[in-house]
Amino acid sequence: MRVAIAGAGLAGLACGKYLADAGHTPIVYEARNVLGGKIAAWKDEDGDWYETGLHIFFGAYPNMLQLFKELKIEDRLQWKSHSMIFNQPNEPGTYSRFDFPDLPAPINGIAAILGNNDMLSWPEKISFGLGLIPAMLRGQAYVEEADKYSWTEWLRQQNIPERVNDEVFIAMSKALNFIGPNEISSTVLLTALNRFLQEKNGSKMAFLDGAPPERLCEPIVEHIRSLGGDVILNSPLKKINLNEDRSVSSFEIEGLENIEADAYVSALPVDVFKLFIPEKWESIETFKKLDGLKGVPVINIHLWFDKKLTDIDHLLFSRSPLLSVYADMSITCKEYEDPDKSMLELVFAPAKDWIRRKDEEIISATMDELKKLFPTHFSGNDQAKLRKYKVVKTPLSVYKAVPGCQELRPNQSTPIHNFFLTGDYTMQRYLASMEGAVLSGKLCAEAIKNSSKDLTIET
Ligand SMILES: Cc1cc2nc3c(=O)[nH]c(=O)nc-3n(C[C@H](O)[C@H](O)[C@H](O)COP(=O)(O)OP(=O)(O)OC[C@H]3O[C@@H](n4cnc5c(N)ncnc54)[C@H](O)[C@@H]3O)c2cc1C
Repeated sequence: MRVAIAGAGLAGLACGKYLADAGHTPIVYEARNVLGGKIAAWKDEDGDWYETGLHIFFGAYPNMLQLFKELKIEDRLQWKSHSMIFNQPNEPGTYSRFDFPDLPAPINGIAAILGNNDMLSWPEKISFGLGLIPAMLRGQAYVEEADKYSWTEWLRQQNIPERVNDEVFIAMSKALNFIGPNEISSTVLLTALNRFLQEKNGSKMAFLDGAPPERLCEPIVEHIRSLGGDVILNSPLKKINLNEDRSVSSFEIEGLENIEADAYVSALPVDVFKLFIPEKWESIETFKKLDGLKGVPVINIHLWFDKKLTDIDHLLFSRSPLLSVYADMSITCKEYEDPDKSMLELVFAPAKDWIRRKDEEIISATMDELKKLFPTHFSGNDQAKLRKYKVVKTPLSVYKAVPGCQELRPNQSTPIHNFFLTGDYTMQRYLASMEGAVLSGKLCAEAIKNSSKDLTIET
C-alpha cells in the first residue's frame, strides 16, 4: 500500500518507519529543507549547531528507546546520573539535588524526595506524598479525570501548601509545557509524576550526542528508504483534495502537483493542519474539536562564552521567572564538546510576552538572569564574555495543555476512511513530547495497517 505522509517531524518519520517495516510504501513530504520539525537544527556560519529546542530523553520513553534500538543507534544517547538538579534562587550559584538511588521504584523516588531538605520541609513532603496516593492507586483513570483542573487547583484540593508549587512545580510545569502551574492541566504533571515514580529509571535523563536531524532523523530516513519508501524535503502540502464521498483523492504538494495514494496522513503540527481542513470536513466533530488545541510559544536560546561557567554534566532547572531548563551543551553533548568554553542552551518560558520582542532584548533579559545563576562568573575582573548568541523562536510549538484538552485530542483514525492523523497532539499516553510523537506515529501506522484491507479493496 502506498501512503502519503505530510510532515517529517518525529511523528511523520516514525509513522513512515513502522509502515515500511510492515511492507507498505510510505512517502513523506516535508515543507522545509530540514528534517525533524520541533527537533530541527541548523549550523551557523562557524559550523556550530543551533536547535529548535533543548531536548531531553527520559527513561520513561519506551517507544523512543525501542526506536533507537531498532535503528541500532542506542549508543547515541548519553545518559546522565539519575538526578534532578535545581538552582536555588535564594542562594545564587548553588544547587539543590534530588538523587535517585539504585533501588526499585517507587522506593528510589521516595528516597530522592526524602533526601532533599533544601526545597521542601517534612510537613510539605508528607502532605504532597498523601496527596499523590489517589493518583498512584487509581492510575490513569484518575489522571484523566484530573484534566478538569489546573495543577494549582489540584494542589489546593489536596490541601498541599502553595509553597510546594513555588519550590518545585513552577519549574516542572515550565519544563513540561512552557507554562506555569496556574495554567497547566493537572493531567500533565500527574502523568509525569506517575511515570517518574512508578518506573525505576523513569526520570533518568539522556542527551542526544549531536544534532537531532543528523543523529536521529537521518537514520529513520535511511531505514525508510532501504525498505522502498522515501522522504522528500522542500515539498509542502498545499491542499487536501477530496472525492465526492469526502474521502481524500490526492495531496496537492508544491512542485509535485497531485500525489495519489491508498492512504493519506497528516503529520503536521495541529495549528498547521487546521489550516488544511477541507470545507466539507468542517462539520465533523473530530476536526471541529481541534479548534481548542493551540500551540504555545517558546524560545530556545544559545549562548557561546569565552570560558567555562560550570562543570555540571546534566540538565538544570533554573527556577528563574524568565527561564525554564538549561544545560551546558559543551559538556552534556559529545558533538558540541568544548573543554575550555561553555555553550549554554536555555529554554525561555513562558514566552507569551517575549515572542515578538527583538533578539537583543531577549538576550539582555537572559543575561540578567544568568548573573543570578552564575554570580561569580559575572562579577569582578575576570568576567565571562558572551562570544555570540542565537535565538530560535517557535510562536506555536506543542499544544498548550490547559484543562479540558484531553477530550479534544483526536485519535489517529478519523471518520474519513483513508485519512489518518499523527503528531504529539493526537491521543496517546505521553502528552506533547518526543515520546508522544513517536508513539502517535506507531499508533497511526497500526491504524493504517488494520484498515489496509478495506482501503485496498476500495482502490
Ligand atoms: C523548545 C522545545 C523544547 C522541547 N523539549 C522537549 C524535551 O526535552 N523532551 C521531549 O520529549 N520533547 C520536547 N519537546 C517537544 C517535542 O519536540 C515535540 O513534542 C515533538 O518533536 C513533536 O513532533 P511532531 O512530529 O508531532 O511535530 P513537529 O515536529 O512539529 O513536525 C511537524 C512537521 O510538519 C512539517 N510541516 C509543516 N507544514 C507543512 C506542510 N504544509 N507540508 C509538509 N510539511 C509541513 C514541519 O516542518 C515539521 O517538520 C520540545 C519542544 C520544543 C519546541
